[in-house]
Amino acid sequence: MSGSSINDRLRYLPAVHTILNSDEGIKLVQKYGHKQVVEASQFVLDLWRKKLKDSKVLTVPDLASIMLEIREYLLSVSQSCLKRVINGTGIILHTNLGRAVLGDKVRQDLAEGACHYINLEYDLHEGKRGSRYAYVEKLLVQITGAESALVVNNNAAAVLLTVSTLAGGKEAIVSRGELVEIGGSFRLPDVLKLGGAKLIEVGTTNRTYATDYQKAVGLNTSLILKVHTSNYCITGFTKSVSREALVEIAQEANIPLVEDLGSGSLLDLAPYGLQGETPVYDIISQGVDVVTFSGDKLLGGPQAGIIVGKKKYLEAMKQNQLLRALRIDKLSLLALQGTLQAYLDKETIFENLPIYRMVAKNPEVLKKKAYEICDNLASFNKELIINAVPTKGFVGGGSVPEQFLPSWGIGLRLNNKSLVNIDKYFRDLETPIIGYIAKDYFVIDLRTLLPGDEEIIVRSIRNIINIL
Ligand SMILES: *Cc1c(COP(=O)(O)O)cnc(C)c1O
Repeated sequence: MSGSSINDRLRYLPAVHTILNSDEGIKLVQKYGHKQVVEASQFVLDLWRKKLKDSKVLTVPDLASIMLEIREYLLSVSQSCLKRVINGTGIILHTNLGRAVLGDKVRQDLAEGACHYINLEYDLHEGKRGSRYAYVEKLLVQITGAESALVVNNNAAAVLLTVSTLAGGKEAIVSRGELVEIGGSFRLPDVLKLGGAKLIEVGTTNRTYATDYQKAVGLNTSLILKVHTSNYCITGFTKSVSREALVEIAQEANIPLVEDLGSGSLLDLAPYGLQGETPVYDIISQGVDVVTFSGDKLLGGPQAGIIVGKKKYLEAMKQNQLLRALRIDKLSLLALQGTLQAYLDKETIFENLPIYRMVAKNPEVLKKKAYEICDNLASFNKELIINAVPTKGFVGGGSVPEQFLPSWGIGLRLNNKSLVNIDKYFRDLETPIIGYIAKDYFVIDLRTLLPGDEEIIVRSIRNIINIL
């Protein structure tokens, strides 16, 4: 065909209906729907028309290669929208995968609240305007023992609102060991600046003493800020100042002590082998004036920022105009309400908070499961090498850095196939499976799986032979 005229060549391109009626076309329509496949076909054909017209290519592609391009186009479109994925990373609060997953009760609350009207800012008792914060405030006060509470869009917003309200353009004292950066876009010095505070750094990266704080406190000091070093540990020759000592220093100077906890746990995690996260109610009872933390980290809820503490500081925050810009939306608020309600009943807390079910999974049970899956799959194709492998699970989300949860996963590889290709195969699935490459295997950790995930994984592993 290369010798024919441009118009001839254009005519040889398949028509959209030919594409739709081909075997592959029918399959694609089943998977993506008629409209999507028509659009994809038109997009791919237009590109070829242009290339042929401009004589950039002289040969008309065959139907099979056009179908391949349409398939890739549809896949890339479907991959770019937000959708369910399977978390096989072993990281429970994976920031790139949406952090905490919500429980079934919250799912029902959300479905009901999203598609019906709710009393968001309507006081049913009085029959007039109410506050969207009132009920979650009550829950937070009950759970943390604080005098007052407020919720905003996320913890970054919680810190910003706190600083902007309490600093009033004056100085905020922070240890040099705690000037954190979280995930690239939350840098504490920048947030303080944005909140109108003048940062006063005290101590050194590894050692800060009570006297460092005492010397820095002056007439211009508005607050002391203690920050959880969420994503790193400073070990070795170190010294930091205890919470009790900071409470005393702040009280003497008559300024608030603010603590940005980052993750912030409402439970004692020591029984699950995780050390060093003081529960929020203990921090409040130790006398910290204002505590901020995230809704979607160890709390196990939606993205939200929680502020709990002394009434006089929280009242001032509620008057700050910034609150309107940082306010939490109704769906997050509903999910937060449902999550907090789960904490009221210690008996059912684990059923209602999936992240704690994951934290509490017994490694022996995971090991047994890993062997069971691998034994079932091992013999079905000789190209496939699959083994139960010990792994390390993590809480993630800046909680308990450097501590791991012993876990198990399935490790697989195929003769003559690169692990990079296997990794891509799992990401390209309709329900993508996110694992990782470790040494000789592509690994799917079992700790972070949810009900229904295992069947999809087994089916996808059986299919891998046909595809790769
Ligand atoms: C995670 C974290 C933040 C940011 O919280 P978001 O809810 O993600 O906005 C702030 N400070 C610390 C110490 C954190 O760990």
